[in-house]
Amino acid sequence: MTLPDLTPQQVYDLDRKHVFHSWAAQERITPMVITRTEGSYVWDGEGRRLLDLSSQLVNTNIGHQHPAVVAAIQEQAGLLCTIAPQHANAARSEAARLVAEVTPGDLDRVFFTNGGADAVEHAVRMARLHTGRPKVLSRYRSYHGGTHLAVNLTGDPRRWPSDSGTAGVVHFHGPFLYRSVFHATTEQEESERALAHLEQVIEMEGPATIAAVILETIPGTAGIMPPPPGYLAGVRELCDRYGIVLIADEVMAGFGRTGAWFAVDHWDVVPDLLTFAKGVNSGYVPLGGVAISPAIAATFADRPYPGGLTYSGHPLATAAAVATITAMREEKIVENAARIGEEVLGPGLARLADRHPSVGEVRGLGVFWAVELVEDRQTRTPLAPYGGTSQAMTDLVAACRANGVLPFTNYNRLHVVPPCTITAAEAEEGLAALDVALEAADAHVR
Ligand code: PLP
Repeated sequence: MTLPDLTPQQVYDLDRKHVFHSWAAQERITPMVITRTEGSYVWDGEGRRLLDLSSQLVNTNIGHQHPAVVAAIQEQAGLLCTIAPQHANAARSEAARLVAEVTPGDLDRVFFTNGGADAVEHAVRMARLHTGRPKVLSRYRSYHGGTHLAVNLTGDPRRWPSDSGTAGVVHFHGPFLYRSVFHATTEQEESERALAHLEQVIEMEGPATIAAVILETIPGTAGIMPPPPGYLAGVRELCDRYGIVLIADEVMAGFGRTGAWFAVDHWDVVPDLLTFAKGVNSGYVPLGGVAISPAIAATFADRPYPGGLTYSGHPLATAAAVATITAMREEKIVENAARIGEEVLGPGLARLADRHPSVGEVRGLGVFWAVELVEDRQTRTPLAPYGGTSQAMTDLVAACRANGVLPFTNYNRLHVVPPCTITAAEAEEGLAALDVALEAADAHVR
């Protein structure tokens, strides 16, 4: 091993001295040292085992250190570590075949990227060149990545510091009944009114100026809001009517997270472009991509596609994807995610909502759940402001860790997003820990 044998304290000290962290005030953070991971668990620098209810950044769908994926990376490293993207290589060819097989409908061409944000950037570029139109519509409650265009597409407050106002993006409201901007009282009303609103935005912006509508099939970091009945089919229909490309961003919701290969599968909608990353190989090696419809692929049949990456379809990353998709099929991991959602997490989180006054709503499916925390159930005042945090949320995170679980939190929400491989017993263990931890949030209820 060429890596020096560092103690957890040395790891921490070097991190604080030399590492520049994402989305953080550098002198205000105390990163947790992780020394080991396996399956649904991680171990911190003090040797404590934590149940990973975050899947890190909602990417380790296949769990930590899956032996088949680790072996595939090792094997590929011995065979062919890297090769320029203009050459064909076995790992990329086979990964593209498998991705085309699991993605919906006729999406059967794949452009590989290094992660989610660049997949989104390329999908938008393809849509603009395909339609010859400049603008893109995207939802307010959304996250599409940290690069310039992707963060401008993003609806949530992470956009604000980098919002150039010139990215050709127009935002609209998607459906979210619990905090309806449409004054709806039923899912049906929310769906119809959100569609009417989107159509109005299209009409007012001028349909002939709009290249694409991009949406997370189920917004992830922005709150895990499964779309109400009819919404996605309605968006598809609007896009068809106005000649607009529909981009489904499945970077977080894809590859089993919702108990289906892709979230769009739940509603039988086929987008023109589908972006993916995270779960495609669980992030064992960085990888993302765009699955492309035949019509859009045809635009670039005789005209060069003006874009590329040195590592498009990197052999280590695509070998990991081949092993991941194969293991997910063989071990019925997508089916497991669906069953855990229906039988354990759904009913278990509903019980927690009954018991804890800080829980305003629980929503989700598969292993993709949000617990919306409020100061007051009547007024629905969030337990932390939009775009911010609060003592209540800090206390909740500390209580989760003290009770042996690693949570994913965003503003006033706790997301329960374990690996798709989690067992029923592990999920019950997580629910029991959350039952205790939520008392820390209840203490802040008015
Ligand atoms: N799109 C969605 C829906 C995401 O959730 C994310 C990341 O969380 C991204 C895009 C960006 O992906 P990456 O961080 O790999 O660039």
